[in-house]
Amino acid sequence: MAELKKMYINGEWVEAEGGDKLEVINPSTGETVGIVTFGDSRDAQKAIDAADVAFKSWSKLTARERSKYLYNLYELVRNDRDQLAGIVSAEMGKPLREAKGEVLGTADNFMWYAEEAKRVYGETVPSSVPNKRIMVNKQPVGVVAAITPWNFPVNMVARKIAPALAAGCTVVLKPAESTPLSAIRLFELIEQAGFPKGVVNLVIGEPESVGQEFTGNKKVRKVGFTGSTRVGKLLMEAAAKTVKRVSLELGGHAPFIVFEDADLDAAVAGLFESKFRNTGQQCICTNRLYVQESIVSAFTEKLVERLKNAKVGDGRDKATEIGPLVNERGLQKVLDHIDDAKKKGGKIVFGGNRLTDGEYGKGFFCEPTVVLDVTKEMKIYNEETFGPVVPVVAFREEAEVIELANDTDYGLAAYVYTKDNSRCFRMSEALEYGIVGINDGAPTQTQAPFGGFKESGIGREGGRYAMEEFLETKFVSFQI
Ligand code: NAP
Repeated sequence: MAELKKMYINGEWVEAEGGDKLEVINPSTGETVGIVTFGDSRDAQKAIDAADVAFKSWSKLTARERSKYLYNLYELVRNDRDQLAGIVSAEMGKPLREAKGEVLGTADNFMWYAEEAKRVYGETVPSSVPNKRIMVNKQPVGVVAAITPWNFPVNMVARKIAPALAAGCTVVLKPAESTPLSAIRLFELIEQAGFPKGVVNLVIGEPESVGQEFTGNKKVRKVGFTGSTRVGKLLMEAAAKTVKRVSLELGGHAPFIVFEDADLDAAVAGLFESKFRNTGQQCICTNRLYVQESIVSAFTEKLVERLKNAKVGDGRDKATEIGPLVNERGLQKVLDHIDDAKKKGGKIVFGGNRLTDGEYGKGFFCEPTVVLDVTKEMKIYNEETFGPVVPVVAFREEAEVIELANDTDYGLAAYVYTKDNSRCFRMSEALEYGIVGINDGAPTQTQAPFGGFKESGIGREGGRYAMEEFLETKFVSFQI
């Protein structure tokens, strides 16, 4: 029997008040890889109380002092990269190479915000009356409650807690229930980094119950969430009752546009990165591929050649490029999108099926898939597939593809491949998306703003933009 893993509240490892437990499954093999304590609103309330007490002293530390803790954590995460990456891969199937990249990105966030903590500036503003002075200060918002998804189970945590802690906030985090083990390991490192008790707390538990405590508790001043648009809307509505600040990083439905003048090999490489990284389970994943009419055949042939050489397998195998889907539900959604496209006239030119032979039968594997003749009536054209399927749509002209690309409620990421410089500018300005990759299939970096337009979210993570999300602006007027 595996050791029971606990939550971290007020500097101690504790079991859930209700005593429930949860098994964590490896989606490559179906094996149990851990057992964790599983709580509810009672545990969330304890953690919020601890964070509220800790806020009083943490927010008073100098930025330089807070920075030291974050820098310690950066070093600890970097040194622990192999172990953390192994846990990520085991609990959600991510290929090891990618999991290592995620862990290094996690470390980078702690370093970046160790630096950024020291750059929170106020300002003085000229007064309109001679005997007054205007001072504008920045102060931490208070206790932050954060909820993260399973697809980047450590980096999503870092992107929330690092800027919050740097700004002087204290945090209660709820990770996804399918990936609590990497969050637990990260909190072991947080403990080693020496953060004072109550500053960072980990609650693992029933999402509705914990979410209601996060949004309803008056001690929480800000809710940060990454996940589906459906849950984001629920949290925003609930947070409105106590007028909490919210940051929401939600779903996406990225268009990937290839013009006939593009470097097709570069476009295929960019598409592979954007579509198949994390087995298509990224919010910024390509979900609609628009290819200019004259190059549909040439482009599709190159893409299929690339996919023939892509190794699908257990995430822990070093050769694996495409892992399993996270669970049976995720796999069934992907298969449903393929099936629906086929029924409505889509032509499968590669893949299309669940993989069941041998070892594949134990996990949740789907062949990388390419569908031609995709139309607006298909689910795959409108809903987030979150899997390794490329739906191809042909277009004639620039104006047409801009309209098609923007015709969605989502607005997170978009990609354009072309060699025409003027078109690069026109497209980047016309696309209603928070992130645009021009000849770039992997546009994220720690210091760049990350977030969406429309129903893809509110607020930004990344760089100095994230700091603003955790700061209040205070105006002090001096009469002299
Ligand atoms: P999800 O179902 O919304 O879950 C995300 C988190 O919310 C998990 O911790 C989940 O807990 C929790 N949750 C679920 N229902 C809740 C409720 N009623 N109240 C409070 N918390 C609740 O999303 P997912 O399927 O795990 O993740 C995939 C989605 O995240 C996709 O839509 C993807 O595009 C989006 N995403 C967005 C970004 C971005 O930066 N924009 C980045 C990554 C992913 P449990 O795990 O316990 O259910």
